[in-house]
Amino acid sequence: MFKALLLSQVEGKTHAEVRRLDVADLPEGEVLVDVAYSSLNYKDGLAVTGTGKIIRKFPMIPGIDFAGTVAESASERFKPGDQVILTGWGVGERYWGGFAQKARVKADWLVPMPTGLDAKQAMIIGTAGFTAMLCVMALEEAGVTPASGKVVVTGAAGGVGSVSVLLLSQLGYHVVAVSGRPETQDFLTGLGAKEFISREEMSRPANPLESQNWAGAVDVVGGSTLARVLAEMQYGGAVAACGLAGGFELNTTVMPFILRNVSLRGVDSVSCPQERRVKVWERLAAAMPPSAYAELGCAIALEEVPQAAKDILAGRIQGRLLVNLN
Ligand code: NDP
Repeated sequence: MFKALLLSQVEGKTHAEVRRLDVADLPEGEVLVDVAYSSLNYKDGLAVTGTGKIIRKFPMIPGIDFAGTVAESASERFKPGDQVILTGWGVGERYWGGFAQKARVKADWLVPMPTGLDAKQAMIIGTAGFTAMLCVMALEEAGVTPASGKVVVTGAAGGVGSVSVLLLSQLGYHVVAVSGRPETQDFLTGLGAKEFISREEMSRPANPLESQNWAGAVDVVGGSTLARVLAEMQYGGAVAACGLAGGFELNTTVMPFILRNVSLRGVDSVSCPQERRVKVWERLAAAMPPSAYAELGCAIALEEVPQAAKDILAGRIQGRLLVNLN
């Protein structure tokens, strides 16, 4: 028997309850994992509260990521005792996920734990931190270097934002943080942010071209914020867009693209190819300073997930929330 957060639909509404399940209840898969930690991401907030039609088949165990130890394996790639990480692939959306003490999944979805990381650290990073590194790599691949100019991060006090601030600062970039919560400035300064802009200011309607402020940008907000970021990019700059916390629409013009050679890079973590995943986790293990984990994340129990899901959608979570399944 093991403990899991199970979502069901009652009269069209999503209902979340911690239940005891049998290992035989788990879906088929090649690898059974004893989950040590999962984490709460924005998408989990949508799933657990039933806000975003993330889940179409009930009952469902949510949790889009987890880290733990292989208990049984029918795959040659993994053996009992191996430490593994899973993010994305529709786990916690279409397939039973990480808000449980056990998970049975396809071997192809798992990444071996990189040297230097443990399960707790891996989930303090989680999908949000994995996505942050994908954004950093997208900027690097577009030729943005610390010498190119300032880099702006929107939604900076949230999961993807805070890890992006940390990683970019560690890599030597001058990071400007955009946040709607002035009370998070000490936290963001601790992660390496050098300057601050309010959410309000950054989401004001923009002219097609504004003054050239940014060599690079990581945007988790979308909507009018992304429109302003694009208008403020300097010549040859690049924006890594991965989120929609402020809205999924984008009303802008072609001007930044055709007059300033700006590029807009989409970033997806769910279907990221395996080879790139391994590279991303290796880079995360190397780039994350050991002292940052305590600053970035705090742990909650499975029973606290339903309330935390509401909090993340309301923008009340600072940094990362770890879900402890031990
Ligand atoms: P968090 O809730 O932790 O962070 C989002 C942050 O955005 C908040 O902390 C807040 O930052 C800001 N924000 C929230 N609401 C608004 C609003 N209405 N207007 C402007 N800013 C707002 O979520 P995550 O970091 O987990 O995810 C962020 C986004 O990235 C989500 O849209 C998520 O779906 C997406 N995402 C995409 C992935 C991909 O593969 N493409 C993977 C992971 C996440 P502050 O208080 O500092 O202003």
